[in-house]
Amino acid sequence: MTETKTLEGSDPAGSMPDPSPAERAREAPDLSHVWVVAAEVEVTPRIAKTADYRGSFKASAGQRIDALEVYCKGCRRPYDEVTGQDCSAKVDNRHLIGGNQSTRAKRKIPVPPRNARVVPGGRIQRRGIEAYVGGVSRPAR
Ligand SMILES: [Zn+2]
Repeated sequence: MTETKTLEGSDPAGSMPDPSPAERAREAPDLSHVWVVAAEVEVTPRIAKTADYRGSFKASAGQRIDALEVYCKGCRRPYDEVTGQDCSAKVDNRHLIGGNQSTRAKRKIPVPPRNARVVPGGRIQRRGIEAYVGGVSRPAR
């Protein structure tokens, strides 16, 4: 059974009360990784039932847990590859994916040449056999 547990070891401020947003903006941005461990934990049948139902469970104190993989929760890169570097998920990289993904980009309307005249075309049948015969999916004869 594989369980993913979040053990935020690199976040010492996690237990302290959050500073105000203005206070946070003054200090340098925290680009550190948030390390998590994918772990394999052997459990009793009773805990297995709870974990299956709730999706979480309490491990017993002092229990040693086998770490399958250590990686960053933000950028999801393995520990040995990115330790000591800034977390790429915290460096603003929205421009690499074409801006804000929650809003759709405006359709670009092509600008016709200055002396162009717009001539309305005929009606194009795009469905059924007429579309095939009419040359939508192959050149018209
Ligand atoms: Zn990271």
